[in-house]
Amino acid sequence: MTELLQQDLKHVWHPFTQHQLWPGDEPIIIERAEGNWLVDTEGRRYLDGVSSLWCNVHGHRKRELDEALEEQLGRVAHSTMLGLSNVPAIELAAKLAAIAPEGLTKVFYSDSGSTAVEVALKMAYQYQQLAGRPKKRRLAALVDAYHGDTLGSVSVGGMSLFHARFRDLVFPVERVPVSLAAVERLFTDRATELAAFVVEPLVQGAAGMLLQPPGWLKAVEQLCRKHDVLLVCDEVATGFGRTGTMFAVEQEEVRPDFLCLAKGLTGGYLPLAATLTTQRVFEAFLGSAAEQKTFFHGHTYTGNPLACAVALANLELFEKEHTLERMQPAMKALAEGLEPIAALPNVAEVRRCGFMVGIELEGYVAAERTGFEVCRAARKHGVLLRPLGDVVVLMPPLSLTVDEAKLLTRTVCACIQAL
Ligand SMILES: *Cc1c(COP(=O)(O)O)cnc(C)c1O
Repeated sequence: MTELLQQDLKHVWHPFTQHQLWPGDEPIIIERAEGNWLVDTEGRRYLDGVSSLWCNVHGHRKRELDEALEEQLGRVAHSTMLGLSNVPAIELAAKLAAIAPEGLTKVFYSDSGSTAVEVALKMAYQYQQLAGRPKKRRLAALVDAYHGDTLGSVSVGGMSLFHARFRDLVFPVERVPVSLAAVERLFTDRATELAAFVVEPLVQGAAGMLLQPPGWLKAVEQLCRKHDVLLVCDEVATGFGRTGTMFAVEQEEVRPDFLCLAKGLTGGYLPLAATLTTQRVFEAFLGSAAEQKTFFHGHTYTGNPLACAVALANLELFEKEHTLERMQPAMKALAEGLEPIAALPNVAEVRRCGFMVGIELEGYVAAERTGFEVCRAARKHGVLLRPLGDVVVLMPPLSLTVDEAKLLTRTVCACIQAL
């Protein structure tokens, strides 16, 4: 065992990790990266098959992103947004407003997907009170929702494995399945109490890449309008090209009241999140100091200039490199490579939306950690993956080449076959 690994085992507590198993799981220590490939301390190369947990976009060590960071470092690394502003944060807000669905003109920064959701929930709750609807105090969310790990986002989350333990600590939420009839019933019965409905649009990521039927989100938007329920779309996973369009809501021509962004916002470089909302919501918070309508929320590193500078460069790359068009051939190769996987006897279903893929294995019990075993086998073939239970997830960077798409699907097919 290397000294570094010894130090890891001695001092580091990893997220979402059972440490009794971790030492036996042949931990890999990443030292550097090139493009879509990660390199460990032994010099072994791995295709980054889950975009370093769903956030990398244009590959690692992308020259334009490195340069944007270096340039900003030459000016200032951090200065607060509380009572001050900074150049990259302003420029990024303008850029986000320009590319987001119409009407989302206001940008509130924070640091992670969880906080992006927390901000939307608190804003929606306060908004309803300021707008003279004080009875609207409850939130609705989907069965098996995942919106992050802080307590507000855990409250709207609905995954029992992660969330049941904290039941006594969280606030109650109206929970509905992905069914229009269920949403309609809930709104008809309870709309006078509902402040907002929170959804992951098109794909429920952490639940196992569950896809919503076409037209569902659009119909939900219409129900929200009809019943004065604010629509919060959590695009932390689906944003920035992951589903094939810049934002998933574009595919349903939906204009949410809140759009939560994080993961891909900085191209996978630095922690940064943004909660976008409308002029209407923003204006409800205006008033004299005595009126106490202020949104009292903010984090120390909110609007960090380094993170905003690299996010801006990330968005410029989408335009300069025509990322959304250029990913089409790899997307096609990915879809084709998934066909033989879907035909395997131990695969229940393959779900895909753009570059988000879930391969659901069938016939295993959770304790066997079969999803993990597939990913462990894939490492031996130079592919890094992380499963969601018995769902093998493929979530490559948008810069994936056709050859890499073939390598990815061929490897996973072989590893599932070998079970
Ligand atoms: C990952 C994720 C989050 C949480 O983001 P963090 O940056 O990990 O806090 C929230 N919502 C969705 C849909 C996610 O996939």
